[in-house]
Amino acid sequence: MKILVADDESTPALFLRRTLERLGHEVVVASNGLEAWERLQADAFRLVITDWMMPGLDGLDLCRRIRGRGDSSYIYIILLTAREGLQDRLAGLTAGADDFLSKPMDPAELAARVGIAGRIVAMQEELERKNVQLAELATTDGLTGLKNRRCFDEALTTACSFAVRCGYPLSLMMFDVDHFKTLNDSFGHPAGDSVLATLAEILRSETRDHDVVARYGGEEFTVLLPATVAEEASQLADRLRMTVRNHPWSQRAVTVSAGVATTGADLATGPALLEAADRALYHSKRSGRDRVTHHDSFQGEIASSHARDPMAL
Ligand code: GH3
Ligand code: MG
Ligand code: MG
Repeated sequence: MKILVADDESTPALFLRRTLERLGHEVVVASNGLEAWERLQADAFRLVITDWMMPGLDGLDLCRRIRGRGDSSYIYIILLTAREGLQDRLAGLTAGADDFLSKPMDPAELAARVGIAGRIVAMQEELERKNVQLAELATTDGLTGLKNRRCFDEALTTACSFAVRCGYPLSLMMFDVDHFKTLNDSFGHPAGDSVLATLAEILRSETRDHDVVARYGGEEFTVLLPATVAEEASQLADRLRMTVRNHPWSQRAVTVSAGVATTGADLATGPALLEAADRALYHSKRSGRDRVTHHDSFQGEIASSHARDPMAL
């Protein structure tokens, strides 16, 4: 374990260094509270053994600063003290100490207390690892490894406000597999799953690192394209459509339909952009599938058909 020792007296500091190193720990010694605080900013320590009485920042102040750090990893603190009174111990605990060691120190007691610290720190690290895994699970789709819908919706909201505020274009592509139900019906669900996983891989490999690719629903995928204008987004969607079409699928040909939308005067929020891409996607479906529709051209088409046939309104 990486341990920070803070003591302004050299004899106990040396004793701590030697004993802890003999126990297999990595030890850094700071000769006052302020130096200890600076070391803590620069490096990740999980255990601090600090003297109480030090010039400048004393042991209690150091404890308080460590506990006030907010959401960083938990640091276990052992306070060294010649003080034995209840009031002193209460003050130490209130400041944030986890345990005490009396001066002069006994090597066996030091080893035992550091052992307790090691157990607590190991549990804490396990908890942190689990939390990272949980956060990953909460944002990832299990079948494809892509971002899930919840994560995509959050990314969309953030990207949309950023794009609108900074005046950058933001495009959204939505893909839906054509006649996917019949593929499942003919070849079984595992075959369908494998198609979805391959599609995810195609979308991931053909887009940029900062594009957000997600599985939005069953056989629907969304891709968020920051700083991408309508024409570029439509071209990319069409390239992806062709890649899917030309892929050597094992059971039968697979095609996708796509709808694309780009932020503009009347499309300035995440939900509006999603709805526009969805409408464009369904236009692609109605027009025969295996094609891309951009929301802007689709809108134009509605306007022109209305112009030709007023009854169509
Ligand atoms: P369209 O061209 O109009 O999109 O037709 P479609 O058959 O693709 O659309 P529909 O919405 O009727 O069917 C979607 C199918 O996707 C039905 C559902 O069983 C299947 N599906 C959804 N999620 C999964 C999944 O995780 N794995 C598999 N294998 N199939 C899924
Ligand atoms: Mg669908
Ligand atoms: Mg479909």
